[in-house]
Amino acid sequence: GAAGVAQAAPGARAGGAARKPGPYDRQVDALLGRMSVEEKLGQLQQLPWAYDTGPGGGGTKEVEDAARAGRLGSVLNIYGAESSNAVQKIAVEESRLGIPLLFGLDVIHGLWTTFPIPLAQASTFDPAVTERDAEISAAEARSNGVHWTFAPMMDVTHEPRWGRIAEGCGEDPYLTSVFAAAKVRAYQGGGTDGLRGRNRLAACAKHFVAYGGAEGGRDYNTVDVSEARLRNLYLPPFKAAVDAGVATVMASFNTISGVPAHGNTHTLTEILKEEWGYAGMVVSDWTGVQELIAHGFAEDGADAARLSLNAGVDMEMSSTNVTRYGKALVRSGKVGLARLDDAVSRVLRLKFSLGLFDEPYVDESAEIREPSKKARTAARETGARSMVLLRNERRTLPLGRSVSSIAVVGPFADSGDLLGTWVLPAARERFPSVRVLDAVRAAAPGAKIGHARGVDPEGTDTSGIPEAVAAVRAAEVAVVVVGEPPALSGEAAARSDIGLPGAQEKLIAAVADTGKPFVVVLVNGRPLTIGDWLDRAPAVLEAWHPGIEAGNAIADVLFGKVNPGGKLPVSFPRVAGQIPVHYNHENTGRPYDPDNKYTSKYLDLPHGPQFAFGHGLSYTTFEIGEPRLSTTRIAAEALERGDTVEVSVSVRNTGDREGDEVVQLYVHDRAASVVQPVRRLRGFRRVALAAGRSRTVRFRIGAEDLGFWTNDPDGTYRIEPGTIDVYVGNSSRATAKSTLMLT
Ligand code: BGC
Repeated sequence: GAAGVAQAAPGARAGGAARKPGPYDRQVDALLGRMSVEEKLGQLQQLPWAYDTGPGGGGTKEVEDAARAGRLGSVLNIYGAESSNAVQKIAVEESRLGIPLLFGLDVIHGLWTTFPIPLAQASTFDPAVTERDAEISAAEARSNGVHWTFAPMMDVTHEPRWGRIAEGCGEDPYLTSVFAAAKVRAYQGGGTDGLRGRNRLAACAKHFVAYGGAEGGRDYNTVDVSEARLRNLYLPPFKAAVDAGVATVMASFNTISGVPAHGNTHTLTEILKEEWGYAGMVVSDWTGVQELIAHGFAEDGADAARLSLNAGVDMEMSSTNVTRYGKALVRSGKVGLARLDDAVSRVLRLKFSLGLFDEPYVDESAEIREPSKKARTAARETGARSMVLLRNERRTLPLGRSVSSIAVVGPFADSGDLLGTWVLPAARERFPSVRVLDAVRAAAPGAKIGHARGVDPEGTDTSGIPEAVAAVRAAEVAVVVVGEPPALSGEAAARSDIGLPGAQEKLIAAVADTGKPFVVVLVNGRPLTIGDWLDRAPAVLEAWHPGIEAGNAIADVLFGKVNPGGKLPVSFPRVAGQIPVHYNHENTGRPYDPDNKYTSKYLDLPHGPQFAFGHGLSYTTFEIGEPRLSTTRIAAEALERGDTVEVSVSVRNTGDREGDEVVQLYVHDRAASVVQPVRRLRGFRRVALAAGRSRTVRFRIGAEDLGFWTNDPDGTYRIEPGTIDVYVGNSSRATAKSTLMLT
């Protein structure tokens, strides 16, 4: 594939200044004209509410004083109609210009109604469900005075050791892009005016960028990445979010090839604001500006403020370097007045688009204080839809309605905390998850239910195992609920060993020794290495952290009320030493070959992951046909003009009950001037089919699916002549294929 069609990036070199006029420009300019430099800098400051904050942070009094003095643009970690209105009143009535504050909060997978963690949502392969859930979350949060959520997180990662994998959509840029755009639409309600809605939140695309590339999976760690990988792997979800109109973007904690993201002109200004024409606001991450010093990039606070502002950060979260040193920086010309005004305009435009100048307060009588029945039903449905049946030998699942006795054992069997990471402490306390034990009791009212914890989630004490074994022996079938406590995934929660913590594997082994049929239910925030016990467990259900309706959603799947249809959005390694292992890897010059000593493999391990990306079983079976292409040849120029190729494939439910299958489409460019991954997901559709029924699924692939970004830092996207393999199937291991010639 040499002489391809090279395209400049769409919108390249347009420049921030060439932005199309927006609806609030006149108001923003008028206001800017009345502001002192201090007041402008104040708009760029975000302070936390009440929490203990670490470096440079503040508490309630600091927030109130800053609001009164006009030295504050935004508050984070505040919610509740009454408290947010009280602080707002200070800004609106007591500051000189009365500019309303912007209130931000991490509404990651719900406010009061905790939905499954984002990684689980991605497992649904059903963005419509996620959209509905995000709308519910937005309504709950906005009614509590929150204007802005720090979500969705869209960091693609090949690192299951990284705790924040729980917050994203896993290892694939396409799947992540589809979900990112869906969530942005749902939070924001589409268009600029959507944000004024009582049920909407400004969204935040985070973390910009390549945060998921952290070396070794240790949070915040170094990232050294080629331009091609940056653009092909990490940037696409952000581009999708920008195209969906995302209001804000958050910089990431990592360095990007030696330059911290918070000081990175290339990513923040050249790509995001100029190439993509992004007119929204960039917020730092928590003390991310200040951290330029610890990174070894800035000399001191003044330098950190200068570097981050000039690189393109608009608002500083929690640390206070911009407000402290900004005036001197502007006076000495180290930060241009135009850059300052641009940053402030971005903040003010957001406030106007949220309607805050017209209605700064929230209606206290309309505050949502608890999950509604409708919200709980949605959470239960999504929970069940997100579950991935990893293994099911001898039709162990579903459990029959006639089962007379069930042992529900394991450290999470009777736990109310299957909510996962990023849940408000108040929500965790007031709205715990439905317990598996209770839900099984409710689902099988006629059965005798035994229970014992067996072991603690993380402890090594095995003295409780005999009691669990006794419960299992006394029952017809056992459900063993094991996994990770919520604190083991999320921010700053990397693990070097991603097996089941503590003595949980010993519990499984002891249950297996009884010879009774059993199912292992995994509740966790990342892929786990499933050790030797896998072959001994007749059935394994990956339930992730399913949220508030956890027990009910799990029981729905166990008893077959819901036929599982979720798929893995991330590969499950066999052992941690195999990481990174992901489906979208490149071939070496000596691709894996079992018979060749000189090939890409470990001597002590079978090749490939334990479970592949896209894998997931059902209680029924499906047959997916060969992909049929509307044409087998197409010119790169035609693709550039917008032509597409239709790929159609038939899917049939060959089993004896209704179920969902996710039809997946992958492409591979056999020879390209930048080596391409062996498979790239470019389409998926979750379809429900009754037993014996079939249907045809159609995809369209075009320029976006068949080309790639090169290493050109100015952004060159190429579609090169050559052969593309087009695969369809129900996992990344799909083998049915057709070829498409690009001319
Ligand atoms: C996280 C962000 C989060 C912010 C505010 C940071 O530590 O990295 O994802 O939005 O805190 O809570």
